[in-house]
Amino acid sequence: MARVNKVLIVGGGIGGLSLASGLRNRGLEVELVEVKKEWTVYGVGIIQQCNVVRAMAQLGLVDHFLGAGFAFENVGLYSAEGALLRMLPGVRAAGPEYPANLGISRLALHKVLSSTAAERGTSIRLGVTVEHLEQDADGVDVTFTDGTRGRYDLVVGADGLFSKVRTLVLGKELKPRFTGQAVFRHNFPRSPEIDHLATFYGKKNNAGLCPLSNDLMYLFVTSAEPGNPWMPEDRLADLMRERLKEFGGIVGRLREQITDPKQVVYKPMEVIFVSEPWYRGRVVLIGDAVHATTPHLGQGAGMAVEDAVVLSELLAEDAPVEALLSRFMRRRYERCKFIVENSLQIGDWEMQGASHADRTGVVKKMMEVTAQPI
Ligand SMILES: Cc1cc2nc3c(=O)[nH]c(=O)nc-3n(C[C@H](O)[C@H](O)[C@H](O)COP(=O)(O)OP(=O)(O)OC[C@H]3O[C@@H](n4cnc5c(N)ncnc54)[C@H](O)[C@@H]3O)c2cc1C
Repeated sequence: MARVNKVLIVGGGIGGLSLASGLRNRGLEVELVEVKKEWTVYGVGIIQQCNVVRAMAQLGLVDHFLGAGFAFENVGLYSAEGALLRMLPGVRAAGPEYPANLGISRLALHKVLSSTAAERGTSIRLGVTVEHLEQDADGVDVTFTDGTRGRYDLVVGADGLFSKVRTLVLGKELKPRFTGQAVFRHNFPRSPEIDHLATFYGKKNNAGLCPLSNDLMYLFVTSAEPGNPWMPEDRLADLMRERLKEFGGIVGRLREQITDPKQVVYKPMEVIFVSEPWYRGRVVLIGDAVHATTPHLGQGAGMAVEDAVVLSELLAEDAPVEALLSRFMRRRYERCKFIVENSLQIGDWEMQGASHADRTGVVKKMMEVTAQPI
């Protein structure tokens, strides 16, 4: 019988919602607080690779997940002009009956995760967060920003890059840093040839197209933006077109359709990697709160979902919290570190204008590592 019965999850993003579903599956009582009053997510897509498909199967929601996106097998590497350089076959890590990868809109993913967490009996409160945490050997007393209080066996900080729980338990010195690059993104109706993830290597910038549904795909371009300049919102379409000017082929054709700045989503790349352990007593952190990476390997959310799978598996065991969290670290730390370090390496190569030869090697290694069981 589990010694942890009542869990508070702070943050209703990809990691927090996955954890809520995993813990409810195992019969634990779960409360979740999300700081946003309106639970919106921004409307571009996300690449979920074989390890996430497998994790969703472990969380018991893979059919719902796959039904909300566009399943695909391969990752194509193309020149800036659109010539195929190499096709990397995906791995069916969840089993032969499941696809290797999924492209999915963030909104669709949020709907799958939030509806499953709620249906499984998670108590969810919006527009509320943690004000104060105080723990003793047996539990954590929490005061919330709406004045309410609660006592929990465990508190999980799944509150993302600017985590308040991280600040409360690990200190305010730990802050994300800008890597020097940013991403511009834009949705388009899906072209029939984009039935896989297609990445395009430019000399200056790198672009990609990912299918999200039968009707939708998204285009992204990563670029060096020294000094993290402020980007005027009404100029985002011009700026994205400018970042894409070296591309021909399908990317070049799509570039000319980028005219509405409101359709462009701009994001500077910010990262943090916290040294182990990611817990103090009965408060543990998961996802971007402790290992936010750049999107170069498309694995940030993948690592958050894997954290949720491992933690929900462990918390159902009859063992002291300290032992469970220490085992959580053993299963998570090196894997997340590998993703963060190698994503940063690719970003550095891009900024140095280095050859892409090693990039393919890193992507292949990542595919091997993430296909391994957690
Ligand atoms: C440009 C870009 C592209 C990316 N592409 C991919 C990709 O293709 N594949 C992939 O796997 N990953 C990708 N990622 C990474 C991925 O988005 C993150 O790793 C993932 O969202 C992390 O999940 P999380 O639950 O830890 O954090 P989040 O998803 O950020 O969720 C945190 C939640 O906590 C809430 N919150 C914040 N503060 C508080 C508080 N004080 N109290 C309560 N709630 C709070 C937030 O509102 C949010 O709902 C990309 C990231 C970027 C920036």
